[in-house]
Amino acid sequence: MPSSRSFFVLTSIRIWLAALVIVLIGSFFYFRVTSIAPPQSPPALLKSKVKDVPRASPIKPPSSTLSSRPRTDRPRVILIIDDFGYVNTDIVEAFCRLPVPFAGAVLPYQPESRSSAERLKQNKKDVMLHLPMEGRALANPGPDALLDSLTEQEMIRRVRKALQAVPHVVGANNHMGSVVTSDRVKMNWILQEIKAQRIFFIDSRTAVTTVAAEVAEKLQIPQASRHVFLDDVKEFKAIEIQWKRGLKIAKQQGQVIIIGHVYPETLNALQRLIPVATKEVEFILPSKVLLEN
Ligand SMILES: [Zn+2]
Repeated sequence: MPSSRSFFVLTSIRIWLAALVIVLIGSFFYFRVTSIAPPQSPPALLKSKVKDVPRASPIKPPSSTLSSRPRTDRPRVILIIDDFGYVNTDIVEAFCRLPVPFAGAVLPYQPESRSSAERLKQNKKDVMLHLPMEGRALANPGPDALLDSLTEQEMIRRVRKALQAVPHVVGANNHMGSVVTSDRVKMNWILQEIKAQRIFFIDSRTAVTTVAAEVAEKLQIPQASRHVFLDDVKEFKAIEIQWKRGLKIAKQQGQVIIIGHVYPETLNALQRLIPVATKEVEFILPSKVLLEN
């Protein structure tokens, strides 16, 4: 018969063991859930893109320089497809076969950056520079990204280099960038270079704290802000909900800026959704409204 002391020790050991097992099981499930990569994501770039949120934007961006619509026009949709550069040209061509004008935002320094820009241009789409910027997510925004730690000189050098890496650029928007777009000084350095190129800027609004559009407005750069992200969830039903949100904004405000990505799911959804939408809205290139007025 064990003494009460050894009984106490045994009980304590059992309690400790039980607690240890619970902690181990808990952390196993936690890490399993947090480490599951989204399907079909390319390395680093897309994974980080998806997490570089918050997406909802309670703070109202400055009014864009999009001109007011001529009386007779239907609500306007500016569609931007982000992250061209690493997907092969078959996918670029497939997007280009969508029966509406759109802008393709091309990442610099990717294997298909130049060829994607060429295809987009040949197909009369707008080519935009998709500027990789530091976000709050740990993921890497890409080579030679605009990082918060850069000096003014290095920041400017990288913007110029990126502008040279993608041909036919008529505008730019940010890839990730929740840290940098929230910094007035850094955005001023960056947007001075955009201004010098006489191209437009679209704030992707990857953070509620972004001041990118505000700084662009102060610098008198043609600018606008994203209203809707189409494909944070890569499923038709979710994309359709976002699409309808976008069309509703277009009808209420006259125009909307919708950003999607080079995902096959997005392409499939757009193939289904665009033909219906063209009955009630007009798709228009951002350069037409931001640069030609
Ligand atoms: Zn992106």
